[in-house]
Amino acid sequence: MTSSGSRGLRSGGTVADLVASARELQPGAVARLISLVETDSPVLREVAVALAPHAGRAQVVGITGSPGVGKSTTISALSHAIRQQGRTVGVLSVDPSSPFTGGALLGDRIRMLEHATDQGVFVRSLASRGRLGGLSAAVPQALRVLDASGYDVVLIETVGAGQAELEIASLADTTLVVLAPGAGDGVQAAKAGILEIADVLVVNKADREGSATVARDLSRTQSYHSTSDGSWVAPIVQIVATDGGGIDELLAAADGHFAWLASTGSLAGRRRRRATAEVEAIVIDRVRARFASLTSSAALDAVAENVACGAMDPYSAADRLFPI
Ligand code: GDP
Repeated sequence: MTSSGSRGLRSGGTVADLVASARELQPGAVARLISLVETDSPVLREVAVALAPHAGRAQVVGITGSPGVGKSTTISALSHAIRQQGRTVGVLSVDPSSPFTGGALLGDRIRMLEHATDQGVFVRSLASRGRLGGLSAAVPQALRVLDASGYDVVLIETVGAGQAELEIASLADTTLVVLAPGAGDGVQAAKAGILEIADVLVVNKADREGSATVARDLSRTQSYHSTSDGSWVAPIVQIVATDGGGIDELLAAADGHFAWLASTGSLAGRRRRRATAEVEAIVIDRVRARFASLTSSAALDAVAENVACGAMDPYSAADRLFPI
């Protein structure tokens, strides 16, 4: 026990020391905290208590889109532009479709080597590492680590995969939806509900044929939809992420949306939505853990057998395993 009452960590030091180092943006400390989140460590509660007073300051930007549209390239260029302005940036990559790829893969894809020695940029990809409920509860807590550590901007990247997109949008202050010509998702994606979550629509690969058509189609589709935030109409920004073309305009559009949220009082609503998602994810994890602890796989197999052959209905089976 130290004077702060903080519990020791397995590798020495205390949670309080670790959080203090993370608050100085020491990358090793930030990475350790995120590892604690990934592995659902028992000291997370103490970490959460230590982080709580520092959270809520970062500008959180979600970036989503189909594989190959250029999200990682865009994030690299955006990080560069943010650093040029003297702001710090934390990047979290989430790939819910491949929970077993381990930590480094997505992070490696992000071409951030130029930032390798810059303490003002932190890049990490998130893996579930055997977490019972997958990544759903880990993402908001990893975001909280970056936010409370003190990065000015936190970018969260996710591969467009339905539910995951919506989850990221519920955590972010501003959601960028990235599209590209030839990716086959232009207006299709727009019709599939992308417009509802996009605060800024990004048409990447503007150096390629067809990008103006994607932008025009988006603009047309947009005029038929009303947005969830009423008066905000997502700007459509064309960029060439590979050479940084349009990146300053994209950053200005994201900042513009953030300023709009703040000036209209909508930011508090978004922050409440994030807090709701955080708490809900923890509760759902707990229910899942409770179910796992109450139910043996043999008992589950037995009722499944009965349901499969029609001897029992699925609600009665659920009642037997997990009475309400
Ligand atoms: P992600 O899967 O969405 O993260 O996409 P990546 O950032 O990995 O990019 C996919 C591919 O598109 C890579 O080969 C990039 O070099 C390329 N790419 C990204 N941005 C652009 C761009 O603005 N123009 C062109 N022509 N290619 C790009």
